[in-house]
Amino acid sequence: MIVMKFGGTSVESAEAIERVAQIVASRRNRLPLVVVSAMAKVTDQLVTMGQLAASGESDGSLQLFRTMRERHLSTANDLLGQKRAASLAPKMEAHFLELENFLRGLAAVRELTPRGSDYLLSYGELLSSLIVADAFTVRGLNAAWVDSRACLVTDAKHTQANPQMAETREKSKKKIVPLLSKKRIPVMGGFIAASAEGVPTTLGRGGSDYSAAIIGAALDAESIEIWTDVEGMMTTDPRLCPEAKTIKQISFNEAAELAYFGAKVLHPATLLPAIYKNIPVYVLNSKNLKSTGTEITAHAPRSRDVFRAITAKTGVSIVNVVASRGIMVHGFLRSVFEALDRHSTSVDIVAISEVSMSFTMETKRLPKSLMAELEEIADVTRDDKQAIICLVGEDIHGKPGIAASVFNTIASAGVNIRMISQGASELNISFVIRESDVPKAVRHLHAQFFPASTRTSAQNKNGSDKRARTNEQGTAQPRVRAAGASATTAEKVVQD
Ligand code: ASP
Ligand code: MG
Repeated sequence: MIVMKFGGTSVESAEAIERVAQIVASRRNRLPLVVVSAMAKVTDQLVTMGQLAASGESDGSLQLFRTMRERHLSTANDLLGQKRAASLAPKMEAHFLELENFLRGLAAVRELTPRGSDYLLSYGELLSSLIVADAFTVRGLNAAWVDSRACLVTDAKHTQANPQMAETREKSKKKIVPLLSKKRIPVMGGFIAASAEGVPTTLGRGGSDYSAAIIGAALDAESIEIWTDVEGMMTTDPRLCPEAKTIKQISFNEAAELAYFGAKVLHPATLLPAIYKNIPVYVLNSKNLKSTGTEITAHAPRSRDVFRAITAKTGVSIVNVVASRGIMVHGFLRSVFEALDRHSTSVDIVAISEVSMSFTMETKRLPKSLMAELEEIADVTRDDKQAIICLVGEDIHGKPGIAASVFNTIASAGVNIRMISQGASELNISFVIRESDVPKAVRHLHAQFFPASTRTSAQNKNGSDKRARTNEQGTAQPRVRAAGASATTAEKVVQD
């Protein structure tokens, strides 16, 4: 069997769902299980409805609710025809009634808890999956709607729940295997699950990808397809750099690194269940069936380019913690790490000396209480509006001069580097720059490491690109020019 996940834009309208039905029909004999997101923007609207209701603005909240209800009902009408839509209506109306009652209740108590938020947001995927399942049936696909809350079991960490794989495996096998053996096509909402007690939970925003991977791992899928509205994973963000191209093949490790460092295509946790079960993941474009997208596997063949991709993560703060003069340095680092641990905060890049430590963190995740605690043990300063640029590629392993080339490129763009890190895994080189320098830095780096001459697939086929072939044989030196000072492979430097 295979898992096919369709994101919000792939199910945003009757027309889009029609395309999804065709794509699924083309994979019919591979026993697909379909996971869908809420229709585009619906989760955001549910969030707004909740905020409005909880702040006492019941009218605004209910107005938004009615618009959302209309959109779902009319999409169902367009897809199913009036008669069939009328038979689905009671199920949908039952959800709308629950939702409306919940919003009214919220307006009365004026408090939205994480648990309440999960309940509220679950309606986006519940509704979209119902419509998609019926649309399939009308088009001759033998679909069966499956309640994700009865298959995916998580802990009770509401809004960011973690899957419990043993229980999930047991429940989803029981529900889904009999359907597959009857050649039925299970259709379920992504993002939503339930705790062992049966209380609805969600896997965090963007979590439908993660649902697909969890269910794929639980059922030992042959592959997991993530259908979206872009041409797979890209060498960089095409909005920053129009020359960005699709990455044909990439390894799990590289893709996870990219997702973590800001590539928006995949939810960062998605690959974990796939890695665990060694299931290939494909990122495909539901609006362009001709594109082959990106294949993510344990070992991706070496590419012509030194790096697979460049990402930029904005909205980052640098926090500098310096031991106060005259204070014993012994134990300083331990106190800093303990403070971080107490706030369950994870940092991205760290630079350490005997008496100082700098780290980066997403500004929105930096707790005030952490800053206050650090100020008690040290002198603390902080710079907001920073960004982490990350260049990822397994091929950089053991190749001298690459870091030097990266930093020369950045210098030639006139951009100042604030912090640098090259991890022990030698999978990435990352550094911190000002947010406003991101477009310039990314364009220069992309031009240097993904030169236009290596970009056409025609070159690839006729083998005219000699560098590509030598690199694939693994004998060539990296193409990048190593000018300037040599860089060590494990540098952790602070450059202010
Ligand atoms: N609908 C959810 C969200 O918008 C989950 C997803 O689409 O992946 O975050
Ligand atoms: Mg997504």
